[in-house]
Amino acid sequence: MSGRTHAGACPERTCVGCRERAAKIELLRTVAVEDACVPDPRGTLPGRGAYVHPALSCFDLAVRRRAFPRALRVPGPLDTKALRQYVEQEDSCQQHPAGQATP
Ligand SMILES: [Zn+2]
Repeated sequence: MSGRTHAGACPERTCVGCRERAAKIELLRTVAVEDACVPDPRGTLPGRGAYVHPALSCFDLAVRRRAFPRALRVPGPLDTKALRQYVEQEDSCQQHPAGQATP
């Protein structure tokens, strides 16, 4: 084992939207359940996962590129409505801090 260029303490995954690598914990895991792509924030669902930043910009990129079916190895298009809702929530929490949060 000598070919490793970077020893990572935390596992990294590639965002299917912006294609940047990020720590697994910063990304949202998604899995295909039947014909839908659903969020799996706790990482408990079985099967292959695709990782995306919980941001609409990344989500939209991934949808436009059909990255979810490709990453999840499913032949057809996936319903991403539930996932979009989830990402919208996460995104609005991060981008619009309502007032000053008390520490
Ligand atoms: Zn991203």
